[in-house]
Amino acid sequence: MNIASWLDRAALRWPGRPALMHGMAVEADYAGFRARAAALGSWLRGRGIGPGDRVAIFMRNCPEYLIALFGCWYAGAIAVPINAKLHAREASWIIDNSGAPLCFTTPGLEAGIDGVECVDPTGAAFLAALAPARGGAPSLPPDAIAWLFYTSGTTGRPKGVCITHGMLTAMSLTYTVDVDSVHTDDAAYYAAPMSHGSGLYSPVHVLHGAAHLCPVSGGFDPAELLETAAAHRSLSMFMAPTMVHRLTAYARAHGGTGAGIRTIVYGGGPMYRADIEAALDVFGPKFVQIYGQGECPMAITALPRGVVADRGDPDWARRIASVGQPQSAVEVRICDEEGRPVPRGEMGEIMVRGLPVMPGYWQNPEANARTVRDGWLLTGDIGSMDAQGYVALKDRSKDVIISGGNNIYPREVEEALLTHPGVAEACVVGRVSQLRGEDVVAYVVPAPDAVLSKANLNRHCMERMARFKRPKHYRFVQCLPKNAYGKVLKMEIRQRESGIE
Ligand code: AMP
Repeated sequence: MNIASWLDRAALRWPGRPALMHGMAVEADYAGFRARAAALGSWLRGRGIGPGDRVAIFMRNCPEYLIALFGCWYAGAIAVPINAKLHAREASWIIDNSGAPLCFTTPGLEAGIDGVECVDPTGAAFLAALAPARGGAPSLPPDAIAWLFYTSGTTGRPKGVCITHGMLTAMSLTYTVDVDSVHTDDAAYYAAPMSHGSGLYSPVHVLHGAAHLCPVSGGFDPAELLETAAAHRSLSMFMAPTMVHRLTAYARAHGGTGAGIRTIVYGGGPMYRADIEAALDVFGPKFVQIYGQGECPMAITALPRGVVADRGDPDWARRIASVGQPQSAVEVRICDEEGRPVPRGEMGEIMVRGLPVMPGYWQNPEANARTVRDGWLLTGDIGSMDAQGYVALKDRSKDVIISGGNNIYPREVEEALLTHPGVAEACVVGRVSQLRGEDVVAYVVPAPDAVLSKANLNRHCMERMARFKRPKHYRFVQCLPKNAYGKVLKMEIRQRESGIE
């Protein structure tokens, strides 16, 4: 089962339907999308790249992103999408770890990527010059890897989740059962990075012949989104909760009602009750929540539109505080530290098993041993399940900070700070931010006689990692709170932060 066969099928069924759109301009119909992706696949094969080989995609959101992604699958290769907001050094590390010999890039992003060939597929000339492909998508077994999804562990080093063609098939099919239906008149709108959730939703929209609409801004611009929705009249999209917050604030300030938005699927971080209430007030019943992680992409639980919107239900407050019930292709259970299921209502680690669960990480047996046990994925999330099967997420055991929809791993920021000669110790935590969900706060113990400032630490961080990861606040302290074993008490620091106005 090769997910690119869905594009062959869509091109036969709806050859003239709009497929790739840049704003409201149609750049390719389904016949054209398929022809270009298949030709790119043949081009890769001609360069010796085939089944099992990796190809990196370090591109901003644009229609050619999907040609590159499906082009990899036409070659039978494994796509390695990388968040375009990452620093070139971070992207290079991922490319190197995946062993990709080639990287598709958009102009400007190739700078600083060494050791691999960078190819820009966005210029009209490049795709137009490709020889047409003969034949369709090559047949692959369902356990063939389609996508290496780089996430991070608490160690700060990214890990490549192996997402197979079978997992993509399962998560796409359950989308239409648990999340939303898809029609040829709809368009998937790519406001969030295509290297993550929003790109993972592209196959199901290909399967149903819907259009793929990339904003001209290349990202999330509330004014552009509301205008495009009004013009297109049926947009669906994935959003981080902080994006929903910003969209609601913008619509309120400018009298927008979200006409033309069909569905907003939100997830990837906690949605605050006040935010979803405000969003429902402005936009109406357009919201579906999902809970997932790279290791079981978008497919652990879902809270359907009807439940999110039913404010008359006496249980609504509890329902909306949950992430919903298990999706159709998985079993979810809550376990204690020994891996034994706990009674309903009790807290424990959320575990999941089923077709969309990863077989493991890319070349990382230690992480696999920690994360997958007897086919069960240990999510690292702490939560409980009520009598009706609704799962409440309590905490992220992994300490991840989610700021503006981006995951930031404290250890990585701490390591960057610690390379500064004036920093003796560092501890990074998140603090609640109305605007971004969470902000990064760094507690820094200066080295003796060192003179540190926010400006010079910011500069130091930005030379080493993506801009969005740098701390928003610095607290210069004489020592960090530690336990008897010398371990920093992060919980105490977080509590301290929650008390600071
Ligand atoms: P990632 O692998 O980058 O998609 O991050 C996955 C993590 O984001 C999960 O393990 C959760 O901690 C968190 N997450 C995902 N969806 C939700 C949600 N709906 N509500 C709260 N946290 C979520």
